[in-house]
Amino acid sequence: MALGLELTIAWQAMICHAQLNVQRTLPFFVHISFREKESMIDVTDVTRSYGPVEALRGISFHIAPGEIVGLLGPNGAGKTTALKILTGYLQPDDGTVTVNGLDVLTHNREVQAQIGYLAETAPLYPELSVQSYLRMIAELRQIPEDDQQAYLSEAIYATGLEDHLVRPIGQLSKGFRQRVGLAQAILHQPRLLILDEPTIGLDPTQVVETRRLIRRLAEESTVLFSTHILSEVEALCDRVIILMNGEIKADARLSELAATPDAVVVLEKAPKGVFKALRKLDGVRGVEQIHTPNGYPTYHVLGEDSDGTDLCPVIYNLVKEKNWPLRELRREVRTLETVFNELAMAA
Ligand code: ATP
Repeated sequence: MALGLELTIAWQAMICHAQLNVQRTLPFFVHISFREKESMIDVTDVTRSYGPVEALRGISFHIAPGEIVGLLGPNGAGKTTALKILTGYLQPDDGTVTVNGLDVLTHNREVQAQIGYLAETAPLYPELSVQSYLRMIAELRQIPEDDQQAYLSEAIYATGLEDHLVRPIGQLSKGFRQRVGLAQAILHQPRLLILDEPTIGLDPTQVVETRRLIRRLAEESTVLFSTHILSEVEALCDRVIILMNGEIKADARLSELAATPDAVVVLEKAPKGVFKALRKLDGVRGVEQIHTPNGYPTYHVLGEDSDGTDLCPVIYNLVKEKNWPLRELRREVRTLETVFNELAMAA
């Protein structure tokens, strides 16, 4: 059988010691390697080449139960290779992968039993009807006969396939085929969902619906999905792993990526000595004037360190002390797009 899923349901809890490694890999943001009390996925120093092409060059990351994480990267970054290794469909050249404490290489079947996997090109059978296909998956997943109907109903309802059950899969639109792929991935109610580009090729309405579905699924399962669409990450998750040229360039919560050490202060009019006073503040490495359409004097205050220090309180105290006419004071934030582009330029 093409899916090669001869499955046994197994469960093994894994307790790791709480450990939070904070490393700075790039000058402009904090790179956090997440390692929580429990780990759903542990990837350590994984490499994989296809002949001379180094698809993965020693990647490591950890995902805790209940997280929804986006694996973001441009075409050819190594996303599909990483997900295939995680699901046991491809062997790494080096490194280890455990899912729920089980080594993917030595416990392949048990791991696959715990995972719902939507591959980049889902292995659907075009001549089978939706319900026949899902019934076949239920058999392969070894869902007990008495429970099959309940499991099928839940997956069909979750993916909105009720009206398409008797249609051959080959006659469905791409969006509905994608839903069938998702239905087979969630059928056995796995604790971990791995989705390779789940919204690729869908129209905007289907994209919105699929994202809504993934969010709903994430309430029950850990979700790791790959994408090259920045807005998908922003819409779905609070943590992103950015992969470029087979290397992890960032692994952080979106809020941490967005934070900068800089602040912006807008005054009604420019007081004398404003540059000098701002520059003299602790933690400030420079001040630039920004030209804005409304003409109010606006200053970009550059923070010295990327350690997350917020300059706003000290700037506010200065403004109060000097009695400057303040219009606005805010922390500078960076969009995911800016971060991604900066990383791409540096790669
Ligand atoms: P995309 O977003 O385009 O799907 P990706 O991030 O998923 O890309 P991979 O498909 O993992 O990237 O590919 C990573 C690199 O490995 C690319 O350079 C790709 O050409 C190469 N590669 C992937 N599969 C094979 C293969 N079977 N044989 C040879 N090279 C491969």
